[in-house]
Amino acid sequence: MPRFEKLTGVKGMNDIMPPQSAAVEWLEGRIRTVMARYAYKNIRTPIVERTPLFVRGLGQVTDVVEKEMYSFEDRLNGDPLTLRPEGTAGVVRSVIEHSMLYDGGKRFYYIGPMFRHERPQRGRYRQFDQIGAEALGFSGAEIDAELILLAVALWSDLGLTDVRLELNSLGQPEERHEHRKALIAYFESHHDELDEDSRRRLHTNPLRILDTKNPALQKIVDGAPRPIDYLGEQSLAHFSDLKRILDENQVSYTVNPRLVRGLDYYNLTVFEFTTDRLGSQGTVCAGGRYDYLIENLGGKSAPAVGWALGVDRILELLKEQGLGEIDTALDAYAIVANLSGLPRALRVLQKLRSEGVSIQMQASSDSAMASLKSQFKRADSSGAHFALVFGDEEVKTNSVTIKSLRDGTGLQVSQSLDSISDWAPTLQLRA
Ligand code: ATP
Ligand code: MG
Repeated sequence: MPRFEKLTGVKGMNDIMPPQSAAVEWLEGRIRTVMARYAYKNIRTPIVERTPLFVRGLGQVTDVVEKEMYSFEDRLNGDPLTLRPEGTAGVVRSVIEHSMLYDGGKRFYYIGPMFRHERPQRGRYRQFDQIGAEALGFSGAEIDAELILLAVALWSDLGLTDVRLELNSLGQPEERHEHRKALIAYFESHHDELDEDSRRRLHTNPLRILDTKNPALQKIVDGAPRPIDYLGEQSLAHFSDLKRILDENQVSYTVNPRLVRGLDYYNLTVFEFTTDRLGSQGTVCAGGRYDYLIENLGGKSAPAVGWALGVDRILELLKEQGLGEIDTALDAYAIVANLSGLPRALRVLQKLRSEGVSIQMQASSDSAMASLKSQFKRADSSGAHFALVFGDEEVKTNSVTIKSLRDGTGLQVSQSLDSISDWAPTLQLRA
């Protein structure tokens, strides 16, 4: 009987283990490479921020702020804190705090965990990784386009094909204000058909009703006034500039006049990349312009635009397309059958590893009492391409036996330890 109760992780917060963790690392690596090509630099902000940053930044009447945030009080000093539910607010806070826009616009990307108290299901977790790109201090449509082209480059680098782009423009505050009035009037005339959530939001945040996930409301929502019909000349020009660049770059998209996004801070351009292959959690990347957020969070007014992608959903989609397998096989597996040779064997492994060879060493709990045969079985199931055997004969002759485990050639050679480095390149060749 175990003496202690077994402790488990938090619901909706997953352990990511091999081989899945290798896929995550691979994806992050690809994204870092692509980000660098577009001159986006990494920014790392804390996972915990003061609660008002999100309440003010994302909007009081949003799903995230109303019901999804992990907020708590720091017991030691009473600070109201929140585990970040998204990355943009923290980046903006940091940019303001360090006056980073004083000498012009900045391009940043972040990678890291976000926290939302949602109902866990496929593609929806309570801790999940996001990768985001933010361009701050730029107002032209070319930067909206750059961010979209960056995402498109990423899909093509990863080999993702089943991703669609939807675009919309929400306009500027005064246009949104006019639209909002029309929207309230419209929904008031359908008051009886609204659900509880929508009635509550009718006067606080009617735009959110367009974003409802309730299928029963789809018909009413479809007939509602659309933000795009309230755009003035400049907003329309921004939107058509963006579309012209996308057209020239052969990026296909559809304009979805119902697309509003779940957070309050967006204006003008909003967009989503979606797929049909992940069921109802089909949005893999989403973003838009947030020209008023910096000012709203106490900074000097400056425009900005960005997006965030869900790492879990991208990996799931890669898997759906049969692309999720990462080769993590080792170059070699070391079997030390004669324990008096152990110190020297480790010195040899250290040398080979310093030259780039990946080697798993059999350690004592693996090997105690194990016959050479069963050790070879372990070597084989480790997935390594070669076995390095340090046995009695090898200790006597100051050598190691190198045996191929994969290519079927039955390669087996004895190599003097003094010139072991000669083998480093061969050990790294994959059959
Ligand atoms: P959804 O409509 O699916 O709830 P969202 O609008 O709340 O998404 P954003 O805040 O725009 O999502 O976040 C950007 C991306 O992060 C989403 O497109 C999605 O891929 C991912 N994401 C959001 N919430 C979760 C979650 N709970 N678990 C896993 N991934 C998520
Ligand atoms: Mg959501």
